[in-house]
Amino acid sequence: MMGTLIMERRTGIGPAYSAWEADILPLNYRRMPTREIILQIADFLKPDTMIFMWINEQRAEELIAWYRKNRRELPWRRDSSPYHVWLSEIMLQQTRVEFVKERYLRFLEELPDLLSLAECEEEKLMKLWEGMGYYSRARNLQKCARVIAGQYGGELPADFNTLKSLPGIGPYTAGAISAIAFHLPRAAVDGNVMRVFARAAADERDIRREDVKKEYTEKVQSFLDAGAASLLETDPLFMPSFTQALMELGAIVCLPNGKPVCESCPWKNSCLSHARGLEEVIPVRAKKKARRIEQRTILIIREGERFLMHKRDRRGLLAGLNEFAGAEGYLSRKEALRYVTDLGLEPLKISPLPEAKHIFTHVEWHMKAYEILVSPSERDPGPGLFWADKKELHHTAVPSAFRTYLEYYDLR
Ligand code: SF4
Repeated sequence: MMGTLIMERRTGIGPAYSAWEADILPLNYRRMPTREIILQIADFLKPDTMIFMWINEQRAEELIAWYRKNRRELPWRRDSSPYHVWLSEIMLQQTRVEFVKERYLRFLEELPDLLSLAECEEEKLMKLWEGMGYYSRARNLQKCARVIAGQYGGELPADFNTLKSLPGIGPYTAGAISAIAFHLPRAAVDGNVMRVFARAAADERDIRREDVKKEYTEKVQSFLDAGAASLLETDPLFMPSFTQALMELGAIVCLPNGKPVCESCPWKNSCLSHARGLEEVIPVRAKKKARRIEQRTILIIREGERFLMHKRDRRGLLAGLNEFAGAEGYLSRKEALRYVTDLGLEPLKISPLPEAKHIFTHVEWHMKAYEILVSPSERDPGPGLFWADKKELHHTAVPSAFRTYLEYYDLR
């Protein structure tokens, strides 16, 4: 029994394990440094058990204390209204914090509440999202706002399962909104949180595996359902703090690429990867499939100050967004000129432009480009095509895949 109590105090391992720990751990553990004890215990246990051990009240308290001292001032932390939490969580998916900061404020200036988002014109919404990529997030955001306006009286529902059923809201986002905005004990486990726990528990399984992710979410949830009882009772801000602290640790200390800053970590004395020197080996991630390379020719067709633009199809990559005219594959000068004459336009001059590359999740565009000056024409350029001058282009959403050319013509 004495051995059990010492183990609980020194390692933070909860009572659930105490009985059998007492049987298997020799009493001389009491003379060992904490890190040694943890290393030796870990040898007895499977990774999933280690993760469960990691999430206990002592660790949560250490983490929250660190967070309250070290957290960054971010615009979406100024208040935790459900609309603000939801918007920031969607924006932060796949986009860097530094970039989101400015976009988040600009978005709120234009669309300060859920109803203004629900009623916003598509073109304006796309313009507000410009440069962030993954435009379906913005469309789903609006679709969701319209459902909430129509069915929930304009207020995000304070219920995890209802949130999860809404367009564009998956289990992670539903968990984050529930915990941060509504203080509900729901787990929000994303890639950052997975990385932190995988390192802490020296779990060498592939964290891209769906079953591993599900297991982590379940472990955190079972801690919130049972293991965090006294903290939930005594600290009214436990849920927002715990959830944001995990995210923050993953963002500024337990870094995704390269060496984590273990010396600044509240868990440095009990992290198994740190103790074993595995911080740069874990997390293990299976290699992603190589991206498909697509060759494209961008045609900047100009008539004076007007540019010929094209609205993309409503399905597929960059659905419904505006782009410069162009074609798949690399066109020769002759083929590019034929493209223009086929539109009923008269080319005056063709010149090559810089090449560019843009990386999407599964595809890479390798772009060659020409500028083609054409003589004035009153003809309708054809389906999906339209003329826009510089001023109009400043107010038109054009994806950052075309950044090289937007900057070349000073259109951004
Ligand atoms: S000690 Fe290092 S590796 Fe372990 S959780 Fe902290 S930052 Fe990550």
